[in-house]
Amino acid sequence: MRGGALPAYPRGMTSTLTDAAVDTFDSFDPATGAVLSSWPAHSAAQVEAAVGRAKEAAQWWGELGFAGRRTHLASWKSEIARGVPGLARLVHAENGKPFPDAVLEITLAVEHIAWAAKNARRVLGPRRIRSGLLAANQASTLEYPPLGVVGVIGPWNYPVFTPMGSLAYALAAGNAVVFKPSEHTPAIGAWLVEAWRRAVPAGPDVLQLVTGFGPTGAALCRSGVDKIAFTGSSATGRKVMAACAEGLVPVLMECGGKDAMIVGDGADVAAAADAALWGAMSNAGQTCIGIERVYVTDSSYDGFVSELTTRAAALRPGDGDGASYGPITMPSQVEVIRRHIADALATGGRALTGGTIEGPFVTPTVLVDVPETSSAVTDETFGPTVTVTRVPDVEEALRRTNATSYGLAGSVFAASSKAGVEIAKRMRSGMTSVNSVIAFASVPGLPFGGVGESGFGRIHGDDGLREFARAKAITRQRFALPVALTSFERPEKVTGQLVRAVRLLYGRG
Ligand code: NAD
Repeated sequence: MRGGALPAYPRGMTSTLTDAAVDTFDSFDPATGAVLSSWPAHSAAQVEAAVGRAKEAAQWWGELGFAGRRTHLASWKSEIARGVPGLARLVHAENGKPFPDAVLEITLAVEHIAWAAKNARRVLGPRRIRSGLLAANQASTLEYPPLGVVGVIGPWNYPVFTPMGSLAYALAAGNAVVFKPSEHTPAIGAWLVEAWRRAVPAGPDVLQLVTGFGPTGAALCRSGVDKIAFTGSSATGRKVMAACAEGLVPVLMECGGKDAMIVGDGADVAAAADAALWGAMSNAGQTCIGIERVYVTDSSYDGFVSELTTRAAALRPGDGDGASYGPITMPSQVEVIRRHIADALATGGRALTGGTIEGPFVTPTVLVDVPETSSAVTDETFGPTVTVTRVPDVEEALRRTNATSYGLAGSVFAASSKAGVEIAKRMRSGMTSVNSVIAFASVPGLPFGGVGESGFGRIHGDDGLREFARAKAITRQRFALPVALTSFERPEKVTGQLVRAVRLLYGRG
C-alpha cells in the first residue's frame, strides 16, 4: 500500500497552533527513511496558549451534558470511520505497520469512541447513595463531573488505538483535551484532530493538537492541565511524573511491559503457538502488551517450540503488500533489539529461527535456552523476538512470569479453560487472556492498565471513564434530627446513647 497509495496529507495539514515562528521537525517513513512531513516543535508558551483555549472550550463542552456530547462524539466517530482507508494508509506510511493491521487498529479505536460516548452517563451521571442510620435525615448524591483540561501524551506504536483510550474517555467524561502525539507519528495525531474539527465545528478547541519532542510534552505537564494521561516508556513516565509533581497534577501512567504467556500440560500447543506468534511478532513486536516471554511446561515444550518455529520462519517482514509485519518504527530501537538478541546468544541462548537485522527490518526471532538474567528476558525488547523457556510445572511458570518489575498483561493456555482462568488470576498483571492473546484490548468495557513499572490508572471501561472525572459528593439535609450530633448544643446524655447504640449495632460480631 505504499507508492501511489500514499495519503494526501500534510504539508498543508494544520496544527491547531499557527502563531509565531517555531522550530520544526520531520516525520519519516520508517521503511525508507524518507521525509514525509514537517511539523512545529511547539514551545512552552504555545502549549500554554492551547491549554488556555482548552479551558474556555471545556466550559462549553462540560455544559453540553452527556447527551449533547454523545451527539458530537458520534459525529467524530463517523468522520473517522468514513476516513478509515486514508487514515490507515497514513498509519502505514508513518508508523510502518501493514495496511490491514492499520485498519484493524482504527476499527478497535472507533469502537472505543462509541462505547465511551454511550456509557458516560451510566458511569458518571448523578446517583443517589444510601445515607445510613446516623445520617438518615440526609439525602446523599454522588456524581462525577469532568476534571477540566486533560493533556494526552501518546506513543507511536499504536498511534490511533492507544491515545484513543485516553482521548475518547476524557472527552466523553466532559473534558477538553490537548493532545501531543509522538514525534514519530505527528501526522496521525493531526489527522485525528482535523477529523474532530470537521465533525465538531462548534467546538474546535475541545480537542487540540500540539506537536514536538520531550520538551513539548514536559511543557504540557506544566501548563496548568488538570490531568496528564501518559502512554510511553517507564523511563519517560518517571520524567512525566516528576514534572507533574511540581503542580500536583494527577497522572495516568500507561507504560511498558515484558508480558509472558504460560503454556501448561495438555494445552493445545498449535493454538498456543499461533497466539504467541501474533502476540510476539505482529506490529514487528512493537506492542506494549506483546508476548516477549513464553514459559512452557515439560510435556508441552517440544510440540510448542516446533509449531512456533515453523510458523515464525514463514513470516515475512517487509514494506509491501502481503508483508507479515513492517519495519521498526523508531530507528534507535533497532539497537536495543540487536543488543537483546546478542545478549541472549552470548549467555547460552540459541536462535531457532531469525536473529538477523537488515536496516529497519528484524527477522522473526525465536530464542530458547536463554537465562532469566539476560536482558532479552528482563527488559522490554519491543521487537519481533520471543524467548521460550522450559519449566517443570505451572507453578514455576507463574513464579518466573511474575518475577519482573513490569506487570501489564499476559496470556495462558492450559488443559482446560477453568485451569487457565485459575492461572490467569495468579498472574501479576492488569489483564490476562485465556486461550487467546491480547483479546482484552478489544473489549471496550474492560479496563486496561498495568501494575509496577507498567504504570497505574486505567483506560477503557467504567474505570477508564472515572479516570477522567472527580467524585463529587453532596448531602442535602431533609430535616433536622431531634438531637443534633454535630452541634455545640449537643446534650451530654447523647454520648452515652451513642455508646449503647454502637455496641448494639456493631459490637456483636
Ligand atoms: P516514549 O516514552 O519515548 O515517548 C512517549 C511520549 O512521551 C512521546 O510523545 C514523547 O514525545 C513524550 N515525551 C518524551 N519525553 C518527555 C518528557 N520529558 N516529558 C513529557 N513527555 C515526554 O515512548 P514511545 O517510544 O513513544 O512508546 C513506546 C513505549 O510505550 C513502550 O515502552 C511501550 O510499552 C509503551 N506503551 C505502553 C502502552 C500501554 O498502554 N501501557 C501502550 C503503548 C505503548
